[in-house]
Amino acid sequence: MTIYPIKAFHDNYIWCLVKNSDCLIVDPGEASPVTQFLQKNKLNLKAILATHHHFDHTNGITELVQTKSVPVYGSAQIPEVTHVVHDEEIIHPLEIPFKVLTIPAHTLEHVAYYSDGVAFTGDTLFTAGCGKIFEGNAEQMYESLNKLKHLPTDTLIYCGHEYTLNNLRFAHLVEPNNQAIQERIEITKQLIKEGQPAVPAPLKLELETNPFLRCNQKEVIIAASDYAQKSLTDPVEILFTLREWKNSLM
Ligand SMILES: [Zn+2]
Repeated sequence: MTIYPIKAFHDNYIWCLVKNSDCLIVDPGEASPVTQFLQKNKLNLKAILATHHHFDHTNGITELVQTKSVPVYGSAQIPEVTHVVHDEEIIHPLEIPFKVLTIPAHTLEHVAYYSDGVAFTGDTLFTAGCGKIFEGNAEQMYESLNKLKHLPTDTLIYCGHEYTLNNLRFAHLVEPNNQAIQERIEITKQLIKEGQPAVPAPLKLELETNPFLRCNQKEVIIAASDYAQKSLTDPVEILFTLREWKNSLM
């Protein structure tokens, strides 16, 4: 199987997983770029997976299923969903087993889809960052990221937006002495210069460079404490502080 990015809006990624000439689509915020991609590559749409209800991940679903009726996996909050998913459930789109992981915080009904070596993490775990906490709280984000953190380290993280460089700049601010972050910034700049996506990234790299997965690391604890102007020890409080800090820069 091969996974291709289809660009949508300003910085969204719709993912197209291809097996032979069949495919599944993850988070179609727009229909037209998907339709064009399928036609150009002569692919048969077999299923749609949605990570959460935001329009920039779901707005293309209606048009796609009008053209071809396929199962739509996701939460009950998305009207077009034909198969409401539950935590730890195994689904088999394209006869590929995907484990559903509920990861609330960005939205309360957010899920990730994990298959051997691949995780679609929507707007919860980003490359080098995490999503904004719109519906849940910091504790939920911590728990959700913790679930993803324990996937096999070679898992490739496919997220919903190209925020990698911006996220890495924040990571560098938090951990100015982290060599892996500095190296990743250089590699990412080069990829972007070449017009290449910086997504996916292996979980192993995320564990080394993503501050939101590093709330138990000494340098991150010190940086968050400095920002909060008080000594922080609770990893949830540290994550909350990092999120506030990042929000203040955008
Ligand atoms: Zn979202």
